[in-house]
Amino acid sequence: MRTRAIIHLDRLTGNINKIKDRIGSCKICAVVKADAYGHGAPQVAKAAVNAGVYCLGVVTTQEGAGLRKNGITAPVLLFSNPHPDEIQEIINFNLIPFISDISYASILNEQAKLAKVKLKVHLKIDTGMNRLGCKPEEAVSLACHIADCAALELAGTATHFAVSDSIADGDRAYTRMQIECFKRTVGSIKSAGIDPGILHAANSGGVILHPESWLDMVRPGLLMYGYKPVEEYADFPHKPIEVQPVMELRASISLIKKVKQGESVSYGRIWTAPEDTNIAIITAGYSDGLPRSASGKWKALIGGKYYPIAGRICMDQCCVDLGQQTDIGRWDEAVLFGSFRDLNAATLAAAAGTIPYEITCNVNKRVPRVYTTGDVALYGKKQ
Ligand SMILES: *Cc1c(COP(=O)(O)O)cnc(C)c1O
Repeated sequence: MRTRAIIHLDRLTGNINKIKDRIGSCKICAVVKADAYGHGAPQVAKAAVNAGVYCLGVVTTQEGAGLRKNGITAPVLLFSNPHPDEIQEIINFNLIPFISDISYASILNEQAKLAKVKLKVHLKIDTGMNRLGCKPEEAVSLACHIADCAALELAGTATHFAVSDSIADGDRAYTRMQIECFKRTVGSIKSAGIDPGILHAANSGGVILHPESWLDMVRPGLLMYGYKPVEEYADFPHKPIEVQPVMELRASISLIKKVKQGESVSYGRIWTAPEDTNIAIITAGYSDGLPRSASGKWKALIGGKYYPIAGRICMDQCCVDLGQQTDIGRWDEAVLFGSFRDLNAATLAAAAGTIPYEITCNVNKRVPRVYTTGDVALYGKKQ
């Protein structure tokens, strides 16, 4: 089976450098949750730390533990409230949880005290996402509580944006409101005599569109992996940031067969050959990361040319129409998405009715990741 996801770590480094050029002296938290959006967390985290990011962001305790087991010593932020059962592990692996409420702070404090450690935590303020975080009006009392917890150290304060990836006037205004609310609330924490630690808010959308949200640190995910959830608007004061997709999904042709005009191909018989043709069977389907909803709307790049996918994308395979005359051979490699203008996770997401985040996250564990810092030759015909 030659299905593989090529992970271009040189592009990841390049993207981080582009982000650094944009944000200047502010720090970066490289978001590597969900196995680094499908790219492989340990490898991405190592490359990101080498590229100079300050810390890493994950969601589950297990993800944080995974980084530690792979020898990563950079600070690791936990963007969630893990179940109290997991607190021992948070302490053992020296992870930094977000805190949204006094009762969770108290449980953390108790266990940290028993373990005789001072556990770093970040206070999360909900400024309009209505997910995790305390209400702005509760932030000062929560900060005071954390300050009173002998086994906790308030190392940072954060918020998260709901619509920073939209250029619509109303959405930009909403994000500005969130930023203002955050700054005001941090101001009151400081007025209460408490050091809020490192301040951070910006996800990729914030990095791209909202310089006033950069503060002490930014938390880009998607942008690092080479996709922009939003483009800069026309009079934006910075040059558009240019990033390159890091992941490429390749599969190979396991069989080529002749199909006669009028014969159907694949499940559901939604595609029939308009003329006698050659059909290539490709070793990737929706379980590998090629969304079934892209059936009839997607293509593969083989031997430097695009060929349409014929019929339903199956779980493990899809069929491609090579046409009547072809010099494509069995075992040649097909690119299903990569860094091409028309063939990447964003254009595939558009065809499938989803977002590029979901495309790279959904490349199944069974697809081997091949890490490279250069080009990887294709099997078969040159692209
Ligand atoms: C996922 C996540 C991010 C990164 O979001 P992108 O849109 O991929 O940049 C940042 N912060 C938090 C809290 C997140 O959960």
